[in-house]
Amino acid sequence: MTDDLFLDEEFDDVDADCDGEAADEAAAPEPEFTSVYEFVETHLVYLYARKVAHKQDRRWCPRWFEHPEAVSRLEALWRAYESLRLDPGTGMSVWWRDHADHHMSALFATDGPFEGCSVDRGHSPDLTAESLPTEEMDDLNLRMAMSTLAPETVS
Ligand SMILES: [Zn+2]
Repeated sequence: MTDDLFLDEEFDDVDADCDGEAADEAAAPEPEFTSVYEFVETHLVYLYARKVAHKQDRRWCPRWFEHPEAVSRLEALWRAYESLRLDPGTGMSVWWRDHADHHMSALFATDGPFEGCSVDRGHSPDLTAESLPTEEMDDLNLRMAMSTLAPETVS
């Protein structure tokens, strides 16, 4: 009798684990796109259609994936899209207002990451933006204040 009870408890635990995994899968639906590249090339460029050829006030680079800032912004845009599309109410409006318009304006800006490129001339690696200049910070107290590490590990 004792052995039977013990076995029943084991089976209950197995069922609980299975139910837990099923609940996790239901909570995280499959993304519509498998990568930022797929999101941009098969969706965003058609959805966010703009006249970009022969434009002095708007930049776009056909090799957008060569620009780290563009990749980072577009990946953020893709991830926001995957999350907000699940909200049937205001999700897409929030995506357009807070994410798409914001990041696409930064990318289209004439002094943005595509400054040296154009649709007409293509990607210009020699004219792409350079890293911002910085100087080494020698104030240890300030470095500690800016760090999440324990003070003794900051160097
Ligand atoms: Zn470019």
